[in-house]
Amino acid sequence: MLPHVNSLVESHTVAEIDLAAFRSNVNTMKGKLDHSIFLAVIKTNAYGHGIVPIAQEAVEAGAERLGVTTVEEGALLRQSGIHSPIQILSTITPDQADDVVHYHLIASISSENIAKAISNSAVKQNRSATVHLKLDTGLHRFGINPEKAEAFCKACYFLPNVYWEGIYTHFSNADEGDWVTTEQQYQLFRNTVKALEKREYLFPLKHVGASTIAIERKHMHLDMVRPGIALFGYQPDVRQRNIISLKPVMTLKTKLVHLRTLPPNSKVGYGGNYVTKRHEKIGIIPIGHGDGYKRRLSNNGYVLVRGQRVEIVGTISLDQTFINVTDVPGVKEGDEVVLIGSQGEDTISARDVADWIHSNVDEVLASLMDRVRRIYT
Ligand SMILES: *Cc1c(COP(=O)(O)O)cnc(C)c1O
Repeated sequence: MLPHVNSLVESHTVAEIDLAAFRSNVNTMKGKLDHSIFLAVIKTNAYGHGIVPIAQEAVEAGAERLGVTTVEEGALLRQSGIHSPIQILSTITPDQADDVVHYHLIASISSENIAKAISNSAVKQNRSATVHLKLDTGLHRFGINPEKAEAFCKACYFLPNVYWEGIYTHFSNADEGDWVTTEQQYQLFRNTVKALEKREYLFPLKHVGASTIAIERKHMHLDMVRPGIALFGYQPDVRQRNIISLKPVMTLKTKLVHLRTLPPNSKVGYGGNYVTKRHEKIGIIPIGHGDGYKRRLSNNGYVLVRGQRVEIVGTISLDQTFINVTDVPGVKEGDEVVLIGSQGEDTISARDVADWIHSNVDEVLASLMDRVRRIYT
């Protein structure tokens, strides 16, 4: 991580994080729920928005719980004074059990050896560890195979100092709107839980849904929902735009640091992958794939200058990107350049950027490196 630079040092490239928009999205998503607990998923550095300020805002906006992916993220939140329940949605490894218990993080349990490691750490630290059992209903990433759930509970449910607060699964095809597969996975989850409860293996909190389920499948909300990307202003899929309106939280902007005019047939950038067709004004902006601005945007995307959409030209390098500003009247060094967000009448969304590179919004936002200063407004 870049040591935190004195905030008086001028940064050209910044990500402005609109906390009011974030808060509004939390309220909009909360409005979709009846009684379910709201767990705000702020993994992956809050999808690139900066995990600590976003966690604080989420809690203030009424998120009852927070979800992260790594033990480090959970520990950082604890060290930053966050007291809300924090769940680790990915798996942990046995050597992390001591930290999980120490920082009061809720582990997702997908194997016997993790359950035993948590129990051992909890006994050693004289604490009770709260955990959730994860069932694999078809994503085949983490989780106990439903057929083996009863045997698992037999071996692990009564381990000392372990409190099985919840049981959950994560769907593989919900964002795609594949309701046949999703309903099958849901029924598998329900039937497995029912069978376990018959054997007195009880789990007070049952949950299955991320943003898509929160938006489109009320009957699957159960005791808790876990929205992530929606809180940052993007529906997982464009079909949901008609159902819910959200506000993008991040604006990514920089400045034109250099401007040059090149004659026709000049090669621009590494590999000469762009060749000027006439006398062209080529601008350079200080952001590159080392900042998480994807190299696949080379010769393949747009930015806004003076309210006008201009092409990215040539190959994006670690720290620089070329843009073609030939047709922008009055363009000069120092001009603001918007990569994600609005300028004048035009807007480039993270979804536009994702479409250009055949990716998704998660990748575009979460790729933004720590070195890009976040400014919270
Ligand atoms: C990432 C994740 C979420 C949030 O998903 P979104 O589609 O961003 O809302 C919820 N639950 C689990 C287990 C996750 O890994």
